[in-house]
Amino acid sequence: MKVKVVEEKCIGCGVCISTCPDVFELNDDNKATVKEDADFDSCDLDDAVDNCPTEAIEED
Ligand code: SF4
Repeated sequence: MKVKVVEEKCIGCGVCISTCPDVFELNDDNKATVKEDADFDSCDLDDAVDNCPTEAIEED
């Protein structure tokens, strides 16, 4: 599974980064983005998707 962040929905809460620090990072606009070298197998992406308060993370 790979994921993407719908930037318009992201409120920059950081929950996804806590769950998957090797996948997500905050950009200069305080929005989560998927890292260029994201390791999608490093964490439970379903958890990240389910725990995002604004449903900004989608399967890609
Ligand atoms: S959990 Fe959702 S709202 Fe929070 S930073 Fe990640 S993508 Fe943005």
